[in-house]
Amino acid sequence: MASSEDSPVQHPSITLLDELIRRRSVTPDDAGCQRVLAERMDRIGFTCESMPFGDVTNLWARRGSTGPVLCFAGHTDVVPPGSLEEWRTDPFEPVLRDGLLFGRGAADMKSGLAAMIVALEQFIQAHPDHQGSLAMLVTSDEEGRARDGTLKVVEALQARDEQIDWCVLGEPSSQESLADVVRIGRRGSLSGILTVRGVQGHVAYPQLADNPIARFAPVLSELHATEWDQGNAYFPATSFQVVDIRAGVGFPNVTPGELSARFNFRYSTEWDHQQLRAKVHSIFDSHEIDYELNWHLSGEPFLTQPGALTEAACAAVKEHTGEEPELSTGGGTSDGRFISPAGTDVIELGPVNASIHKVNEHVRIDDVVKLTSMYRRIMELLLA
Ligand SMILES: [Zn+2]
Repeated sequence: MASSEDSPVQHPSITLLDELIRRRSVTPDDAGCQRVLAERMDRIGFTCESMPFGDVTNLWARRGSTGPVLCFAGHTDVVPPGSLEEWRTDPFEPVLRDGLLFGRGAADMKSGLAAMIVALEQFIQAHPDHQGSLAMLVTSDEEGRARDGTLKVVEALQARDEQIDWCVLGEPSSQESLADVVRIGRRGSLSGILTVRGVQGHVAYPQLADNPIARFAPVLSELHATEWDQGNAYFPATSFQVVDIRAGVGFPNVTPGELSARFNFRYSTEWDHQQLRAKVHSIFDSHEIDYELNWHLSGEPFLTQPGALTEAACAAVKEHTGEEPELSTGGGTSDGRFISPAGTDVIELGPVNASIHKVNEHVRIDDVVKLTSMYRRIMELLLA
C-alpha cells in the first residue's frame, strides 16, 4: 500500500487489515488468519485455544478468569471473489484508492477483526487490570455451511460451563455511514421444501388426471394472503416468500403428476419455528391436497433487550458520530443466532455493508480507525 505521513493508512488496524486480506481465506479456509490474530492476542495475555471441527478452523481466546465476559466475535472466511475481470484490482492484493481500501473481505469482515485486535491491544495497555474477562471467538465457517464454526464452539463452551455475557460481532451492520445501524437481533429463517402429488394426464381429459398445480394454487394464495403478524417493537412483520415452483413435463398436452416448491419465512419473535410450521400445516390440511413438506431451520430469531451492552454501544457510537444509532433486527442471518441462545446479549457493530459479497468490495479506512475507537470505548464502559 502506498502511504503518507499522518494518514490513517499508518494506523495499526489498517496494517493488520492489509495483512489479513492478503490471505486467501475463501470459506472454509482460514489461510493462517487466525494464527496472525492469536499471535497478537498471545502477546497481550490471552490464552488462545484452537478449536478445529471438521475442516473448519476456530479460535477461542480469553484473558481473565472471572465474569462478566465481554467477547468480540467474527469470521476470517470470505466469499469467493467472483468474476476477476470485474475487479479493478486483484481481490487479494489490497489497494488504497480515494480513502477506500479494496479487497475481498475488506468489509465482511476482516476490518471488524483488525479493529477488534487493535482495540484490545490499546485497551489492555491502558487497563492491564481490567474487570471481568475479555474474549475473542473467531471462526472460518460463517459464509459457508456454518455447521462446524461458531455453533460448535458455543456448544463446547457450554459443555464446560463457560459463559459469555456480552458479545460484539463485527459484521458490517452499517448502512449509509459508519454505525448508523447497530443490530440487536436478527429475524428467524425457516424454509419449506414441498412436494405435491397428483396424477399425470391428457390435458383434454382432466377428469382422468389430478393436476397438482391446481391443487397447490389455492393453498399458495392463502399462504400469501395470511397476515402472519404485524411485527413488534423490534421486528418487522413476518414475511413469506416462494422462491421456486416447478412442475410440468415440458409438453403442451400433458398435465403434470407432481409439483415441487420451496418457500421461506423471515420471522419475528412473535413465533418460534414449531408454531410457524404448525400454522402452515393447518393451512395445507384445510385444503384437499396430497403433499409432503420438509423443513429446514437456518436459525430462530433472537433479540438483545436494552441493557448494559446496548447502552455502551450506543454511547460509544454517539461519542464518535454525534448520532444515536438505529437499533435494528434487519438483514439476513448471522452467527449471532448461535451465540444468543446461550443467554448472551449480542450486538453487531461493523462497517458499511454496501459492497459486501460484491466485486470491488471495499471499506473506508477512516471508518476502520473510528471502529477501533468505538470497540475500545465499549470495553472501557463495560470493564474499565
Ligand atoms: Zn460476515
